[in-house]
Amino acid sequence: MSAGEAGAVSGGGEVVVETAVRNVGGLHTRPAAVIAELLAGFAATVTLAVPGKEPATATSAISIAILAAAPGTPVRITGTGAEARAAVDAVRELIDEGFGEELAEELAGELSETGGPSTGAPDAAPAAPPPSAPAEHHPARPLGVSPGRVIGPVAVRRGARPVAPSTAERLPAAARPEAVERLERATAHVAETLRASGEHLEGQRREVLLATAVLAADEAVAAAAAAGIRDDGLTPEAVVWRELTRTAERYREAGGRFAERTIDLIDVRDRIIARLRGVELAGLPEAGHPVIVVADDLAPADTVALDATTCLALVTEQGGPTSHTAIIARELGIPAIVGAVGATGLADGTLVLVDGSTGELVVQPDAAVQATATGVLTVPPFVGPGRTSDGHLVQLTANIGAPRDAARALERGAEGVGLFRTEFCFLDRTSAPTVDEQVEAYAEVLAAFAGRTVVLRTLDAGSDKPLPFLTPQDEPNPALGVRGYRTARRDPGVLDDQLRAIAIAAERTAEHPHVMSPMIATVGEAREFVRRARAAGLATVGIMIETPAAVMVAEELCALADFVSVGTNDLAQYTMAADRQSGELAELTDAWQPAVLRMISLVGAAAARTGTPLSVCGEGAADARLAPVLVGLGASSLSMAARAIPAVGDTLAQATLEQCRRAAEAACAADTPAAAREAAQRALA
Ligand code: PEP
Ligand code: MG
Repeated sequence: MSAGEAGAVSGGGEVVVETAVRNVGGLHTRPAAVIAELLAGFAATVTLAVPGKEPATATSAISIAILAAAPGTPVRITGTGAEARAAVDAVRELIDEGFGEELAEELAGELSETGGPSTGAPDAAPAAPPPSAPAEHHPARPLGVSPGRVIGPVAVRRGARPVAPSTAERLPAAARPEAVERLERATAHVAETLRASGEHLEGQRREVLLATAVLAADEAVAAAAAAGIRDDGLTPEAVVWRELTRTAERYREAGGRFAERTIDLIDVRDRIIARLRGVELAGLPEAGHPVIVVADDLAPADTVALDATTCLALVTEQGGPTSHTAIIARELGIPAIVGAVGATGLADGTLVLVDGSTGELVVQPDAAVQATATGVLTVPPFVGPGRTSDGHLVQLTANIGAPRDAARALERGAEGVGLFRTEFCFLDRTSAPTVDEQVEAYAEVLAAFAGRTVVLRTLDAGSDKPLPFLTPQDEPNPALGVRGYRTARRDPGVLDDQLRAIAIAAERTAEHPHVMSPMIATVGEAREFVRRARAAGLATVGIMIETPAAVMVAEELCALADFVSVGTNDLAQYTMAADRQSGELAELTDAWQPAVLRMISLVGAAAARTGTPLSVCGEGAADARLAPVLVGLGASSLSMAARAIPAVGDTLAQATLEQCRRAAEAACAADTPAAAREAAQRALA
């Protein structure tokens, strides 16, 4: 499951290994800190290199983070020294395991319009539909990042940042060694304070603070700062300001999740400067009663003092859905919105309503708006079985990409696995996995879901999920090329090995996995797949319907297969002729597009006529508002990112099957996605 075998010991004792980033946040601060800390224990010099950037010294968390390595980025790990092999392998293992974070493949496509940006954040609950009451909005476009709709007086944190030190002052040569030591002491104090605070906490707050402590003690910054004092005679304050501001700027330029960590560096900088000056940094406002805390931004260290009993909600001007403010707010169950530009201009005590799902910030809400506050929303795990309000069963299962995702899916209440994207186990491979390796991965998931449905999808390599050992690298149009089942044209042995591995895993665990093929376009392909799967000894064989061609022959596919499963991501891509990875065309690949809904409706009709179970496993199934429509179209099971299961289960439980059918009919008859949503909502009201 790793690229280690591709690694080589080159001449001169250098160990080189290549792998790719898997965790959804990429090599941001915390993973970078984990790598830097790990390497402190090895007698080896290790660098990490990504395409187009200078290699980073892997004992410097900041240097690693500046690589801005997003999920999927290839990483070359190079080590020298007595323990180079062990050090390089340990780093590769961390990267391959995703640092215990959610993996990118789990989130693939999850930024569906359902919940907007808040659903794309790790552990965000799916957003609720916006309330219908129009209200006075703050002039900004805030984002909800932690759910809950609360009202309270604001307490604004002001003047938290120190003023920039002068860069004009030059230290005499004799004073420079002492200045270096003074800076080292201040830095060590800040790192130690952050570390000690982190040690007293749990969960993500602990991890975030410990990672920030590693940033404070970063060796690359310390070396540059010491050089600035020794060589240029800058004061410790000026040099810390220069180095950490510059580094923060590079984080900002990297964009996305990395930019959202800029505040962490700025805060470390300010804490070191405050220590050098012997002053205290302003903490969170203390009003003596529960308040909505408003700040420009919050650093991890600020959040130590956060307490859900006194902090009703958080509102920040900066930050994004994956900023530490957002992560920690979600962990503490505190509603939060970020990006509320201008919010720090509010007077202390101003009454506001904050909706951490929709991003609404209403200043001085009137009585009608106040009445819409519901308090803090917590999303307990789903308790199945999934059903409509009149008891029609709809199995709610999880999409997973690796065996380790099974535990999270179980925690959220998944009734089974409706889509195991097996290719994600092998994304970093340069050669086909052995049957034994596959058996191990599949058996782990089957055992975790013993007695429940597990649908393994055979390798869906190509296009957005290239596997170098299976898919051509030079196709002009990979989404329309040799991907999914089509790879079996060139390498039938890979498919047969996989089917064999699934059968062995089934035997070993005494479970009964379902298997299905992606990217089927013809009846002939479906027939051949079913034949091969049955020949391997697999009893329950399905076909994915994700091309318009498959929709048009759905009845024949249903007759051949034991079940069919609609992949809304690809079905939307191919129906709308719009790349599913294009942000610019996202509105076209919306599963609410009437053309896509009508495609699904054709499949539903074919499934009903043939009595074939119909599942939907694309991201459309994670949209709590679309779920009743899909059920109305004939889906008897919905498979989605595990985090969406509670909200989908909740929505379904509020509608009868007849309402779902009416919603489906109304949505299909609409002529725009917005009209389809409204029509469905009306039918469900
Ligand atoms: C889909 O296309 O909707 C699907 C479930 O498969 P994937 O997203 O893995 O292509
Ligand atoms: Mg697909």
